[in-house]
Amino acid sequence: MNDHGPISGGTCRDTPVLRERGQREVFCGLTGIIWLHRKMQDAFFLVVGSRTCAHLLQSAAGVMIFAEPRFGTAILEESDLAGLADANEELDREVARLLSRRPDIRQLFLVGSCPSEVIKLDLDKAAERLSAAHAPHVRVLSYSGSGIETTFTQGEDACLASMVPVLPQTDARELLLVGALPDVVEDQALQLLADLGIGPARVLPARRRDEAPAIGPNTQYALLQPFLGETAAALDRRGANRISAPFPFGEEGTTAWLAAIAAEFGVDAKTFEAVTSAPRARARKAVAAAAATLSDKSVFFFPDSQLEIPLARFLTRECGMQAIEIGAPFIHSDLAAPDLDLIPEGPVISEGQDVDLQLDRARAARPDLTICGLGLANPLEAEGLTTKWAIELVFSPVHFYEQAGDLAALFARPLRRRASLKVEAAE
Ligand code: SF4
Repeated sequence: MNDHGPISGGTCRDTPVLRERGQREVFCGLTGIIWLHRKMQDAFFLVVGSRTCAHLLQSAAGVMIFAEPRFGTAILEESDLAGLADANEELDREVARLLSRRPDIRQLFLVGSCPSEVIKLDLDKAAERLSAAHAPHVRVLSYSGSGIETTFTQGEDACLASMVPVLPQTDARELLLVGALPDVVEDQALQLLADLGIGPARVLPARRRDEAPAIGPNTQYALLQPFLGETAAALDRRGANRISAPFPFGEEGTTAWLAAIAAEFGVDAKTFEAVTSAPRARARKAVAAAAATLSDKSVFFFPDSQLEIPLARFLTRECGMQAIEIGAPFIHSDLAAPDLDLIPEGPVISEGQDVDLQLDRARAARPDLTICGLGLANPLEAEGLTTKWAIELVFSPVHFYEQAGDLAALFARPLRRRASLKVEAAE
């Protein structure tokens, strides 16, 4: 595997970014509701949208049919175009009906979408009006998950950013972790930090509204996801300070992320070593098992979740892969810099998409592994390329030491499958 030491030549931080603004093949920001509604246990997400939006959510989160759902779609018909006043009254009626039926709801998010009749509605104003009507039991906020304005993971960013202005104020010097992770992974992170003597750490989003963090000029925050640029900007406006670090994927990323926080909170080297040495060793061993399949293989990232840059860092440095192109739908240069600093120069770094041009580049390069969205995976498989669905990387627990081996295995699986198909075909 590649050595984890500093890079002697140039790094991808110096690579000029290829910016493309053509047709793109990425989910819209409504998709974030699928993991956010699981994380925030007293929240409800009311999409104000069309039947298409309702279908997207139902098919993507169909597992909810056995439970009381915590998302829904208020469908605006074309006839609603006739009068916005009627649409607002209808929305108010629907919200009142929902909240009277579901006293467990403490936070309601109105989520905007693409149709022109929705764009004409002022959902920020509607949220203010409804918040006043249903306070103090329920707080109503709004954000856009529209496919015109957001891609895939930007829905979470827009949601968290909408919460920042209403968080209480504090002058306490506290650590805030920002990003929605599965509870079990979040608990692992909090335990590592507690073992380092840092805490109690707060989390945004909190699991329940009553546990929402307070923030202020002494808040030190660390992002858990690279797609939270708007949320970071909103926290900065409240005076909080961001701890800059690579993202906690793999052994190296997790150690660097923890080390940056430990430095900010004055943890000594001996304590850091004592707390991290055993999980580091476990993570290295687990990654090595999958990395045997990945080593010396080439990888091409189509833009999807904004996780591409830290994942490319993990694959190139910890699994021995060679990156050909690292495409991301949007690159927050400040947030991506610590990961770009660790990737040796060579790959194309692209932002946005012009899907036909990018497909041409992938076909010319014939990578061993292509990470892409669902819509591109099947056609590329039919052309003989081995693909990995990028969406799995968002829906699987992949952060921190204990998941490092699983993360490497997610990339190794399609290569193993392709190899076994070849063997069978040859027999
Ligand atoms: S792209 Fe627009 S219309 Fe389609 S599901 Fe997303 S928000 Fe709804």
